[in-house]
Amino acid sequence: MKTIVIASLSGGQGKTTTAFFLGKLLSQSAKVLFVDADPQSNLTFFLGHEVEANAPTLLELIKALVEPAEAVYSLSNPNQFLIPADDGLSNAQEYLASSGMGAVVLRTRLKKLAQYFDYCVVDSPPARTQISIATVGAADYLLIPAEASTKGVNSFIRTLELVQSLENLGAFTGSILGVVPFRDKWFGRSQSKDSASAIAAMKEVAPQLQIFPSILESERYKQALNQGMLLNELGYEELENPFKAVTKALEIKSLYVV
Ligand code: ATP
Ligand code: MG
Repeated sequence: MKTIVIASLSGGQGKTTTAFFLGKLLSQSAKVLFVDADPQSNLTFFLGHEVEANAPTLLELIKALVEPAEAVYSLSNPNQFLIPADDGLSNAQEYLASSGMGAVVLRTRLKKLAQYFDYCVVDSPPARTQISIATVGAADYLLIPAEASTKGVNSFIRTLELVQSLENLGAFTGSILGVVPFRDKWFGRSQSKDSASAIAAMKEVAPQLQIFPSILESERYKQALNQGMLLNELGYEELENPFKAVTKALEIKSLYVV
């Protein structure tokens, strides 16, 4: 199982959008485990899962109150599975902080599920918290969506700083797949100046990292999300390019892994 963590340390950077479409695309030919690691639980909602009272979620998995498999639910698509969240996930903060090795807890727990899935796609919360530290620590591959704006550049930089600090502690052992610019604005064939300069700034900050094709500013992503569908199923195949490119990058990476 390859664990792909979608992280970016500000709100509204396209994390949930990216996790949703990337996971769905991967599930066309592989078994995918979605992990909702955000107490806002947007991914759980968009995947159409309702958490029942007292049903195990990511919180119980993190606290080791259940076997990891008990927190996994099947979705209507036979290749898609979910470890859901609800707002109670905030209670994981204290546990992770006091465990003394919070950054590796999620990685350790997910290992027990590795034999059942090809990919694990993790949607992270927006701030630098114990939960986001645990998700980054669980990554084989980290993907950073960032708005094509000044706020997005800052989110990108803060995410890289977190990765660097975890790497120094030996708690990040994965690799950064790259950046997906989010809400990139174009008017016909002309890109907005703000978008262009934000993406240029991202390149300057991390020239070694891949910049994937952008998620364009468009209502169509929201439409597809709300209907739980892929963009190509709604006839907007070209809007799927960012996720296709990430899928391809994952395939290429896996060729180098013995
Ligand atoms: P949070 O940090 O709150 O979890 P996030 O990083 O997960 O946010 P998303 O929820 O994916 O970000 O997206 C933020 C908002 O942008 C959502 O309301 C979503 O519906 C909207 N959105 C998604 N795709 C697009 C798009 N291509 N153009 C414009 N808005 C979009
Ligand atoms: Mg989100």
